[in-house]
Parts: sequence; structure tokens; C-alpha cells
Amino acid sequence: MTSPSTLRIGGMLVGYYRLCPRKAWLSLRGIWMEQESDTVALGRLLDGHSYDRSEKHLTVDAEAPDGTALVGKIDRANLRNGVLHETKKSRSCEDAHLWQVRFYLWLLVRNGVTRSDGSPFRGQLDYPLLRRTESVTLEPEHMEELAMTVTSLRELVTTETPPARLGKRAFCARCAYEELCYG
Ligand code: SF4
Repeated sequence: MTSPSTLRIGGMLVGYYRLCPRKAWLSLRGIWMEQESDTVALGRLLDGHSYDRSEKHLTVDAEAPDGTALVGKIDRANLRNGVLHETKKSRSCEDAHLWQVRFYLWLLVRNGVTRSDGSPFRGQLDYPLLRRTESVTLEPEHMEELAMTVTSLRELVTTETPPARLGKRAFCARCAYEELCYG
């Protein structure tokens, strides 16, 4: 089980927390059911077959203002253009996707990596099945919110009981933890 000293926060966990703190709590307990889902498998397949392979996967480590270790495993990075890409199947959890990409952009800022004009990298959500893309920017208020999210996740690690269910059954029907929460 994760403890505050072993906690290493990644983009998916941040996205989970933004969607539902209970979902983040369950994953912090080592229950990563989503990794087995068709959605994630399809995402990997799309990532491997739909894009220019000259763009690189990128892993970035950083430290939050409160000292928490952060890690980002970025689908594809176009370093020359200063753009990070994240591939998703659908827009059903777009807010979580946005925060996942903002988190990756923040990791670069935490490492002092910027575009040539000194501004943060930009992000792009790619939805190949929908033939759509969505631009993502990192603003100062996003960085403040990300720092607060990290602190909240740090507190969540030591919380013995899970946060309340969302109570939105239609939304929860798409979640890998649905059976755990409502079964
Ligand atoms: S099923 Fe609903 S309440 Fe349970 S973790 Fe998923 S989103 Fe949260």
C-alpha cells in the first residue's frame, strides 16, 4: 500500500482525483482495475498505430512545492514544437484528461523546461476515433490548483476510509470501480 514516503504521483492519479476522490483513493490502495480495461488497451493500440513515431515517449520526474515526488509518462512529445500529446478514446472524461495533460506541462515547468520564448509547453489531446484534437494550456491558476491537488492526494494516502461515492450512477457506470462501489 502506498504511504506518504513512497507516494509518487502520476498524471492518471491526478485525473482520477479530479473526476472522483474515491477513485483516486481506490487506486492508491493498489487497485488499478482500469489498467485491464479495453479502453486503456485500445488507447495503447491507437498510440502505437496512428501517429508519427518520430515523436517520443517521455518520462519526467519532478518535485511538487510540498516535496511530493511526481512522475509523468507522456504519450508523445514533440520537443521541437514544444507540444505534448495525450491520446484518448473518447471525450467522456475530458476534464480528467485536461488535468492529466496540464499536470505533464507543470512537470516540465517544475524542471525549468520551457519553449524558446520562455512560455510553458503546450498540450494536445488527440481523439483519433473522433478525428478531433483539443489544445491544452497551462496557466498560473492551473499550477496553483495542481499544487493543491497534490497536497490533497498526500492527505488521501493516510485516510483510512474511502471518500463518499459520487452518487451519479450514470457517470459511474463507465468507471472500472463501479462494481466495487455499488456491488
Ligand atoms: S464508481 Fe463512481 S463513485 Fe466509484 S470510484 Fe468510480 S466514479 Fe467514483
